[in-house]
Amino acid sequence: MPKEKKVSTTEQVFVRPPIVTIMGHVDHGKTSLLDYIRKAQVAQKEYGGITQSIGAYQASHNGKTITFIDTPGHAAFTEMRIRGGKAADIVVLVVSADDGVMPQTKESISHIKASGTQMIVAINKIDVAGVDPNKVKQQLAENEVLVEGWGGEIICCEVSAKTGAGIDKLLDSILALAEILELKADPAGDLEGVVIESKLDSKRGPIFTGIVKNGTLRTGGEVFTTEVSGKVRALVAFDGTVVKEAGPSDPVEVSGFSKVPKAGDIFVDEKNKGLLDLKALATGPAEAYAEGVKVVNLILRADTQGSLEALEGALRKLESDEGKLKFLLKTPGDITESDVLLAHSSRGLILGFNSKASSKVVELAESHKVQVRTYKIIYELLDDVENVLKEALFKEEIKVKGLAKVLRVFPLESGDVVAGSVVLGGVLRPSNKVVVKREGVEEPLYTGKVKELRRNKDIVNVIGKDVECGVFLSPNFKDIKTGDLIEVL
Ligand code: GDP
Repeated sequence: MPKEKKVSTTEQVFVRPPIVTIMGHVDHGKTSLLDYIRKAQVAQKEYGGITQSIGAYQASHNGKTITFIDTPGHAAFTEMRIRGGKAADIVVLVVSADDGVMPQTKESISHIKASGTQMIVAINKIDVAGVDPNKVKQQLAENEVLVEGWGGEIICCEVSAKTGAGIDKLLDSILALAEILELKADPAGDLEGVVIESKLDSKRGPIFTGIVKNGTLRTGGEVFTTEVSGKVRALVAFDGTVVKEAGPSDPVEVSGFSKVPKAGDIFVDEKNKGLLDLKALATGPAEAYAEGVKVVNLILRADTQGSLEALEGALRKLESDEGKLKFLLKTPGDITESDVLLAHSSRGLILGFNSKASSKVVELAESHKVQVRTYKIIYELLDDVENVLKEALFKEEIKVKGLAKVLRVFPLESGDVVAGSVVLGGVLRPSNKVVVKREGVEEPLYTGKVKELRRNKDIVNVIGKDVECGVFLSPNFKDIKTGDLIEVL
């Protein structure tokens, strides 16, 4: 499988191919688009025939690789996020030019935004006579998706999965965005991957398709997920060939487990086992809020667009400088299972005004511990949200100043050790005085200061709750370990 190997100046890391998934309303052409790209590959590589899908494949464009997850749908995407295994780097939101923005388009937008994943819009079916892509762009703008030329920076490609028009440009755009994202991995590092599909095969036993995010998965290697472990018996690549190993961004079918692992779970090797518990903590919107500001995530459903607007207006009046409301979704209609998944992964609250939740939705909400509250009287809804905001602010008052857990340690050639961490509470800032504590050890192991904080490659001034970052300490603390807690004094 092709791979672009590039060594950066400070770390032994490799640029890995982007992992892409496709979302959008039913019948807007998600499957057709994935099929078109896959078939172009098959012809190009002269495979003997079309192989059976393993749930993901790799395409090669201009000599570079793109990994596509070919099981579209926001339920799968969000389920994955709930278990901590964020697979996709980029989501292509497909909107049909002849149909425009539809309910599942809006749901997809909410899921993508809540996940913090980068988005590219593909306006599909431009071959259909009389369609006007500008109309779709306008509808997207009404839904707070501002594409290029419409006051925003989201890349938008006009394509046809039927004729192939514009698909080259879509692939160019994916690669250009991937370059900006600087997706790095270390094939020699600790193993981390995401299970994207799994099943019990009558001949081969439990099998799953995984995508490697870091390190290398090898036959014979011992692999662990949260509930299942096993020794890799065989690896099958997306083109049906048996391979000995799979590196960063490679999708591969894995057999050798005694039980079927869950889709969305992460898989790791022995050295990286600490990550299994910690990944689950790292969900939630990837945003750093200003210090002291509490945000309550809401999913708002109402019977009509008119009531939604009235409700939003009234709810906004409850906000203060310290307590904000964030609408992950506000759409007319009944509460859906997808709303529950969105609320669960974003720790949100579902409010329904004159809209119902079916028994199936209620059951799912109960099993995911998501609160669904329905109302017929607007003042009751407002009172309730006011109390939720007050409660949230009270909790914020008693919280720690700043607490982060170390997910992984990166020693640099310069001698510095970077602690890849997730902030569990409060905020981290450069120059914070901190101690490092370890489970089972009473006294702090280290006292010092935060020298620098990085998010991706950028130096940042503040990191809020649930956000991952790289922490540089001064003086350097070489013995910091995965699982250690960095606490602001
Ligand atoms: P999905 O539900 O989003 O996966 O949509 P499909 O890929 O199954 O496509 C739904 C229908 O739209 C099928 O009948 C496709 O043949 C058709 N379709 C998909 N893409 C295009 C396109 O670019 N142009 C036209 N004219 N039809 C398309």
